[in-house]
Amino acid sequence: MSRKLIIGNWKMNGSLAANEALVRALTSAGLAEKPVDCAVCPPSVYLAQLAGLLQGSSLMLGAQTVHARENGAFTGDISAAMLAELGCKLVLVGHSERRAGHGEGSEQVAAQALAAVRAGLLPVVCVGESADDHDAGLMQDAVTSQLAPLAAANAEAGGTLLENLVIAYEPIWAIGSGEAATPQYVSVVLECIREWLAETAPALEEDKLPRVLYGGSVRPGNAGELLALHACGGLLVGGAALVAEEFIAICTAAAAQA
Ligand code: PEP
Repeated sequence: MSRKLIIGNWKMNGSLAANEALVRALTSAGLAEKPVDCAVCPPSVYLAQLAGLLQGSSLMLGAQTVHARENGAFTGDISAAMLAELGCKLVLVGHSERRAGHGEGSEQVAAQALAAVRAGLLPVVCVGESADDHDAGLMQDAVTSQLAPLAAANAEAGGTLLENLVIAYEPIWAIGSGEAATPQYVSVVLECIREWLAETAPALEEDKLPRVLYGGSVRPGNAGELLALHACGGLLVGGAALVAEEFIAICTAAAAQA
């Protein structure tokens, strides 16, 4: 098995003092010696602060979104090159809160992913079904239709997009609800995503397929069973990423499965 990737999405939380305390706790937990890749995605105004705090650390810095264009008249937006210049290694795109709150559709998300790859960042493309699609049993259809525009973006990038991204499967009904999807349910969708990747990028050998993560109410108590799934390459963690002991416990559980 390969190294898992654990990403903490801080969403719109934090302060200069709280961020420093949290980062100091994470960087002194000995995660660098463990076989696991860990990252934190603070609000963009704190990226420069975290870039300083994370100097010399194995903990990677990520952003929560990015604009698809390189520069221009896009008030309030941030380009992939700016994120890379600040020291970001990865960026979330298409998080359900961005899709819902900022009208970001799957075409735009694919363009954001492409911009990220072109700037040398790892895009973490978030997909996941709504509660209605969940109730109707349409989770695979919902997820594959969100993935579809990535195929054209991959062709535009000469096949370099799909080998340089991560997919995060986050059922919307599970995010922040305290109720994670069951491992059986997650397994079905993660395998479906891997099949889509294998069909869309047939040149990629199975062990080169991008990592597919699960996110949605992950806690130390359920991380191990989710990480044990064959198709699970790691976890995207929201609320538990704000509590140092919980995030460290999840990263430690991931290291045990490497
Ligand atoms: C998220 O927002 O990406 C997320 C997974 O949140 P939570 O872990 O709080 O459900």
